Amino acid sequence: MKQTTKFQHILQFFVLVMVGFGFLAQIASAQKKVTSPEEFFGFQLGSDKKIARWDEIIHYFEVLERESDKIKVIDMGPSTMGNPFLLVIISSDENLANLDRLRQVNATLSDPRRVAEEEIKKLIKEGKAVMCQSMSLHATEIGGTQMAPELTYDLLSRKDEETQRILDNVVFFMIPSFNPDGQIMVTDWYNKTLGTEYEGSNLPWLYHKYVGHDNNRDGDFLNMIESVYAAKIMYRDWVPQAYIDHHHMGSSGARFYIPPYCDPIRPYADPLIWREHSWYGAHIAYKLEENGKSGILNAAQFPGWGHFGWHWITPFHNIAGMLTESASARLASPLYIHPEQLEGGARQFPRYEAQSTFPNPWPGGWWRLRDIVEQQKISAWALLDLAARNKETVLWNAYLKAKRQTERGEQGKIKAYIVPINQHDPLTVTKMINTLLLSGIEIQQAEKEFQVGNAIYPEGSFVITLAQPKMGLIRNLLGRTFYPENEWTMEADGTPLQPYDLATHTMNEFMGVRVDPADQEASGDFRILSEQIKISGEVETGGMGYMLDGRLNASFKAVNLLIDKGIAVQRIDKPNSGLNPGDFIVYKGPESVIEEIAQETGVDFKALNNKIDAGIHEVKKPRVGMYQRYYGGNMDEGWTRFLLEMFAFPYISLMDAEIKNGNLNAKYDTIILPQDSPDIIIGEIPPQYRRYISAVPPEYQSGIGQEGIAALKEFVEKGGMLVTLGEASSFAIEKFGLGIRNVVDNLDSKEFFCPGSTLKVKFDNTHPLAYGMPEEGFVVFYSSEAFAITESSKSEQYESVVRYQDKDLLQSGWLIGEDHLTGMPAMVNVKHGKGQVVLIGFRTQNRCQTHGTFKLLFNTMIR
Ligand SMILES: [Zn+2]
Repeated sequence: MKQTTKFQHILQFFVLVMVGFGFLAQIASAQKKVTSPEEFFGFQLGSDKKIARWDEIIHYFEVLERESDKIKVIDMGPSTMGNPFLLVIISSDENLANLDRLRQVNATLSDPRRVAEEEIKKLIKEGKAVMCQSMSLHATEIGGTQMAPELTYDLLSRKDEETQRILDNVVFFMIPSFNPDGQIMVTDWYNKTLGTEYEGSNLPWLYHKYVGHDNNRDGDFLNMIESVYAAKIMYRDWVPQAYIDHHHMGSSGARFYIPPYCDPIRPYADPLIWREHSWYGAHIAYKLEENGKSGILNAAQFPGWGHFGWHWITPFHNIAGMLTESASARLASPLYIHPEQLEGGARQFPRYEAQSTFPNPWPGGWWRLRDIVEQQKISAWALLDLAARNKETVLWNAYLKAKRQTERGEQGKIKAYIVPINQHDPLTVTKMINTLLLSGIEIQQAEKEFQVGNAIYPEGSFVITLAQPKMGLIRNLLGRTFYPENEWTMEADGTPLQPYDLATHTMNEFMGVRVDPADQEASGDFRILSEQIKISGEVETGGMGYMLDGRLNASFKAVNLLIDKGIAVQRIDKPNSGLNPGDFIVYKGPESVIEEIAQETGVDFKALNNKIDAGIHEVKKPRVGMYQRYYGGNMDEGWTRFLLEMFAFPYISLMDAEIKNGNLNAKYDTIILPQDSPDIIIGEIPPQYRRYISAVPPEYQSGIGQEGIAALKEFVEKGGMLVTLGEASSFAIEKFGLGIRNVVDNLDSKEFFCPGSTLKVKFDNTHPLAYGMPEEGFVVFYSSEAFAITESSKSEQYESVVRYQDKDLLQSGWLIGEDHLTGMPAMVNVKHGKGQVVLIGFRTQNRCQTHGTFKLLFNTMIR
């Protein structure tokens, strides 16, 4: 055996060391390797017939966070149904380590009041462009969420100069699913129907527990928890310079709509916003053409005046809020489009032919989820690329937008909005102020009484100056709004074009809150509100018990909570020792429970010293049936459920089968039919819906049928109350043979048109259904009905509870042909058999926003 020499030992040692180093180097490089979506999911995202589910996508982001120091994954909290709502932040490791400082810099640039321009210039050098993009807000529009992991992977794994520039210059905030619950529902539904004749069909119910598609109508009121998270990210913590929300649209037009919007545009944004839309949009379009994508449309179809969902409200936060819309496939199943099926016809896109904003028409053929993923990824990347190449311009413009909006507020005719605290329902005033605070609006509260012009406002009133960066938002939410009548909104023959959504979104009008525009700066002893106003009712013990103010929406919640605890509640019918019809009385109850309810609801329990013997009745526990159908669900139904839960009303969702079975009086005192077409309620499907409905499995086809109509009639005749909201009123008018006519039925739009406006009405607050209401106020008219009482033999059984004013109906929005409404009943109570039919023609609870008319619905349940 050969002895090894010392030299050989040394050599062996070196070899081992070298191998060891190589191994370590290998480990190090393995750490740098980022797992690709294909490795993780087992398929390329966007592949035919495959959808990655939200839980897997979360795991993928967790893996990426472990593998890379260029990504931070933040769980903002649970969604409505308890799934994690993620925020993914992508940037260089250096930027991510420095986020707190970057946030401060960004906050100063987006609110530069009291900061010198020299300092701003330094901050622009130091700061980074902040870009935000969100995916698949509408859960059936699945492309965005499928694209997000691949976009992230590209950003983390690509080593080229372009990628490095993005990471160095941009902090990218991504919401990979704006509706995690819906993503899961749609994925599971797709997999369940895969391979059946219903493959690719839409979900039979709402793709969100409450609001479905309307989650894009909640960027102002922030009713949903998902909205609260998005507001924290975009309205307060980070005000990004630009934001894109990625959607899908119909299948037969352009392949991809990208920014900018077309006309008309909503007023009061800084003009730079509209220029930024064009600037980013041009780069996005350029990159798509460069990549050989056809069918790209911009500056058409989606107008700059829309609803107050995310991409349309952010411009008024000085964020270049934009939208992309991909043509849809059938979820993950491919769809074939024949050339002759392709069509134009959208705003500023009259024909499916080449035009300057659509130079390269797509010729038709198979359309797949992968096509959507690719085009969305190019658009998402293009935004980041342009911002990275022009970081200082982007930040300088952020500063300019904020500065100029503040100056416009200073110089404008209206200097501030004053919100007095002493009004009809002060708790709803507080609710409005808290909602505005969530939007990052600066609000001051008076520590002492103050005067503006001739008006004197009490301590506790609020002042919202327009000399602040979010001037445009404040002006749109709190100022009267008139939708334009011009070439962009009407056809040449005077036919009005339907606005994209309501013609106004004036928060205080919806909420029944008085806001006074002030033409001079208010001054006084004011304090800037730095956090949400806490509500807490006071309890005053009297000899006999407690009184609750029936004008407060929150009193109804308090009453529901009291009844739920077994505490009896009485209601006043005749004015008596300072009490008004609609006020509530509690004679006794455990003090700790009363205290708790006062704290939770904010309602004061005032001392009651005398027993009231007459003009009072006991409130029964509400027994409410809330009609719910399939056929994709009904958003108005979902919003109503949310409203009932918000105010602690007990209810049961009432489906077709239960209605058809009859004997409804045994379980219900009030049945609510939400806004819906009578045909859909009955199940007689109009031709335009047939194609969609036929794609739904038979167990999800809906309609109460003739048996259901008979059962509802019996319910009312035996003493029940049927409440019909909006168009559902026609169901009762026709099927119950009521002596009522919808006065705006079948009118030509040139003769009558009211696409979502606030109109002036009178409330008969001596009627039990309008207890607690003021004498006058506003209602929201939106696909609504108004009534004429045509009954002659029993007209005493018809009571008008709400009536349109005799002239000048329009507060905000758009109204053609007001003569059809003036003086007409807007809400009618019809005594029928032993029961009642309550027809509410307007939107009494629209999207949980119209707090000013909630009580009209509450009074049908608490009576
Ligand atoms: Zn959408």
